[in-house]
Amino acid sequence: MARHAWPVLVLALLSGCGGSPPSQSNAPASPTTAAPSVAPVRVLMITATAAFRHDSIPAARSVVAALGARSGAFTVTATETLTDVSALRLASTDVLMFALTTGELAFDDTQKAAIVSFVDRGGGFIGVHSATDTLYQWPDYGRLVGAYFKEHPWTQTASVVVEDRSHPAAAGVESPFRLLDEFYTFQRNPRGSVAVLLSLDPRSVNADGDFPLAWTQSFGRGRSYYNALGHFDSTWNDPWFQRQLAAAILWTAGR
Ligand SMILES: [Zn+2]
Repeated sequence: MARHAWPVLVLALLSGCGGSPPSQSNAPASPTTAAPSVAPVRVLMITATAAFRHDSIPAARSVVAALGARSGAFTVTATETLTDVSALRLASTDVLMFALTTGELAFDDTQKAAIVSFVDRGGGFIGVHSATDTLYQWPDYGRLVGAYFKEHPWTQTASVVVEDRSHPAAAGVESPFRLLDEFYTFQRNPRGSVAVLLSLDPRSVNADGDFPLAWTQSFGRGRSYYNALGHFDSTWNDPWFQRQLAAAILWTAGR
């Protein structure tokens, strides 16, 4: 997809207009003027859990599916069947999303190699919220998602600072903005090895320190995006959160 297609998608998502193009009924029907058709991004969304299970999983699944249907920019297959994650399946996937996963998901070594190879060769990876509370025993996964969860000291409304508004997944929102969520800290601060898009304003939780909340990184030839927010249904239903997810899907797909 050409870069100039971005504003169209973002506007469609912002307005909730369903992405319908402007009427061209007066334009001559000519193949030479037709917009090029772009295949939708294919998202494989994993919500399996081997530890804590978030109540927001159904909301997450329905919101991501609805975003894809509304925009037409991506299709979503959501699954909790781990054997669905195979080299064969990933060959027809553009973005692998771990949303609200937890614990030591029972991937075998062949599946782990397929996941690493998928992103290394140009596939997209997205982790949301407890995706960092997942697969602690598999260091390559930690590298892929960018950090491992440590604690969630603050479940409250707090201020989130947008550090890089030039990135499509962080565009179009005031900085700082207020949000009710469960705010994570990580075993090791990923800043320095990732590009931080969002961070917690520590003063808003009466704390000191640096608390990144969303970031991007490259992984081989692929792109990885992580957002620590999403504990509650209300976050998934937040129009801003939905816009950043849709933008992250396209960005990690290289669109
Ligand atoms: Zn949570």
